[in-house]
Amino acid sequence: MAKLTIEDISGELKGKKVLMRVDFNVPLDANRVITSDKRISASLPSIKFVIEKGGKLILMSHLGRPKGKKTPEFSLDVVVVKLSELLGKPVKFAHDCIGDEVKKMADSLNDGDVMLLENLRFYKEEEGNDPEFSKKLASLGEIYINDAFGTAHRAHASTAGVCKYIKKCAAGFLMEKELKFLGKLLSKPEKPFIAILGGAKVSDKIMVIENLLNIVDGIIIGGGMAYTFLKAKGRQIGDSLCENDKVNTAKEILKKALDKNVSIYLPIDHIVAKLPQGDGDFMEKLKKAEYKEVLVDDIDDGWEGVDIGKNTIEKFSNVIAKSKTIFWNGPMGVFEVDQFSKGTLGIAQAMAASGAVTVVGGGDSASALKKLKLTDKMTHVSTGGGASMEFMEGIELPGVAALTDK
Ligand code: AMP
Repeated sequence: MAKLTIEDISGELKGKKVLMRVDFNVPLDANRVITSDKRISASLPSIKFVIEKGGKLILMSHLGRPKGKKTPEFSLDVVVVKLSELLGKPVKFAHDCIGDEVKKMADSLNDGDVMLLENLRFYKEEEGNDPEFSKKLASLGEIYINDAFGTAHRAHASTAGVCKYIKKCAAGFLMEKELKFLGKLLSKPEKPFIAILGGAKVSDKIMVIENLLNIVDGIIIGGGMAYTFLKAKGRQIGDSLCENDKVNTAKEILKKALDKNVSIYLPIDHIVAKLPQGDGDFMEKLKKAEYKEVLVDDIDDGWEGVDIGKNTIEKFSNVIAKSKTIFWNGPMGVFEVDQFSKGTLGIAQAMAASGAVTVVGGGDSASALKKLKLTDKMTHVSTGGGASMEFMEGIELPGVAALTDK
């Protein structure tokens, strides 16, 4: 890796105040109980490494969207308890992330001690990448480590700004692992390389598709976004999700793919649903909807495609079976509703059986894999949905660019 890593600076950690950006943005239920500690455990290797090397560890993270206000419901107080439990040692908690009190606490740490700062996003200056705020954060540590891949696509004070004021800024183990697996996709992936894209919107994925067209041999498109492409091909899509202002973009993408000899695979059949009339939440209505499988690629008015059909699962699975590298982002249907999760399950199972290098771009695909208990069958499941997609656009992430070159 071109950037300094935690291992590169292992000999320099002893006795030093190490400021580490982690992604502890954990899901909480209505009683503020952590429903998954995956994000905390994902950074444990970096945390334990600094402790073992005798560093004085100062952890910082955001939680939720407090929008620059000190909001108790977004306090990291619940995380500090969980972290102590997972580490098996006490972790100090600072009730702020900047200021004299916090600095005093950081200065009084002993070798191997750990403290966690309060939510960075209690200050609007964090997301604003404010230089003064960055300086205040930087004053807490002598070495900086970024292990928060999930926020590396954001140029915030704690992910980018702070690096202007600390000499040595390195990637943590999680960050390094993410960059290694995603980086391999962009440089010399084993061929055939197939991307599988799904989810609701085409607009979110245009930049990724544009970049993928230069690297992949084929793109499988499913989920809601497939209908904009099917419309671009002149198919009837009934009431399926469609971004009408992106139909022309879809046409251009199809043309570019043809020019570049990249195969685009679209659904050939669907599960369609007829939603009950009236207001109400889409998911709730969908759970009660009448549905059927249509074994053609045209959909009648009044019906909307909510999953790929069995012929499509077979068609996509055959492509997957012949691939050596696969990148997947976005479900093939409304997988949150059991009766419409078969397409996503089928694709995940085909990936698991393919023997290919399988990299999953976080977000909904990661949740789908978890729901389907197939996470362990993938080569790598990214912890950063947005970050992994921006990485696949071929852009250097600000949180990575800010780290010290080797
Ligand atoms: P995205 O954030 O764009 O990756 O979209 C993920 C969401 O797309 C999930 O919540 C799915 O329920 C939804 N989705 C997938 N397929 C469809 C579809 N055919 N119609 C409507 N929503 C869909």
